[in-house]
Amino acid sequence: MEKKNLDWSNIGFNYRTTDKRYVANYKDGEWGEGELTSDANIVLNECAGILQYCQECFEGLKAYTTADGSVVTFRPDLNAERMMDSAAWLEMPPFPKERFLEAVDQVVRANAAWVPPYGSGATLYLRPYMFASGPVIGVKPSLEYQFRLFGTPVGPYFKGGAKPLTLCVSDFDRAAPHGTGHVKAGLNYAMSLHASVLAHAAGYDENLFPDSATRSYVEETGGANFLFVTKDHEVVTPQSDSILPSITRRSLLYVAEHYLGLKVSQRPVKLSELADFAECGLCGTAAVISPVGKIVDHGKEICFPSGMEKMGEITQKLYDTLTGIQMGTTEAPEGWIRKIM
Ligand SMILES: *Cc1c(COP(=O)(O)O)cnc(C)c1O
Repeated sequence: MEKKNLDWSNIGFNYRTTDKRYVANYKDGEWGEGELTSDANIVLNECAGILQYCQECFEGLKAYTTADGSVVTFRPDLNAERMMDSAAWLEMPPFPKERFLEAVDQVVRANAAWVPPYGSGATLYLRPYMFASGPVIGVKPSLEYQFRLFGTPVGPYFKGGAKPLTLCVSDFDRAAPHGTGHVKAGLNYAMSLHASVLAHAAGYDENLFPDSATRSYVEETGGANFLFVTKDHEVVTPQSDSILPSITRRSLLYVAEHYLGLKVSQRPVKLSELADFAECGLCGTAAVISPVGKIVDHGKEICFPSGMEKMGEITQKLYDTLTGIQMGTTEAPEGWIRKIM
């Protein structure tokens, strides 16, 4: 199979239309048979639930070429399960786990020419999503839905090494207690855009959203979970019901404990203890871990000892171990890697 002629290391994080995507429709109380299609466009009724009341959820995962030339995905079963949870919360019919996994395999196989080669740092980013396709004008769940899954090649997240980020503590809220913060829904992102544009305009890379009720605990950024390292090398991640359960974060905690022999804990983290940590990172599928060098809390600067030049020592070890597991150079825990080709 001939690969597409792209400058893989320099393609950036942009959407590119690939050859095939998977579509399945839900109608009359059941999911129909899905299929691959060449059509990248969707024709919707003007009153579709997604357009009026934003009934939608999504996932994000990557397919990539490992050191031995296989094409694999990383823990896609967890994306399938999380999407079923998201759908249930949004009163949408969950798309069955086995069918989700089959759709991932089909899309990756059909777009094999778009899977970046090993060593390029690039990956085929996969975007499963589900939305209300049936018309609704009175506010209620739609009767019809569409599940879709497409792939788009994306370049290495950090070109020329990971530069530590500077965050600001946001004055806006991302997620309310008992709200949708733990659900991977587009609506959480729509309302985070204003905060994000303002933060970027003020020179920050991301927002740190504190808990909405007391504004005194660390939750997450718009799209990544926090991971902290204490001065005695304990890995700490914030606990809250309104944080999105990141698969990368869960995997990193396992790696910290079982591969690196570190103590790990998940507990509420106060904004006031930020200055005590030695290292800070953001975790998510796109970057695995982005190091954070500085957090600005309304004029008060918290500078992590790991500095603004490189990742902290433990963060780097976590990053190297997890990316080694993903790329097939470090042995993976049972069931973490799904080989497609
Ligand atoms: C998707 C997402 C993450 C990261 O989750 P991963 O499973 O690691 O990719 C973190 N926070 C939010 C709000 C997200 O939507």
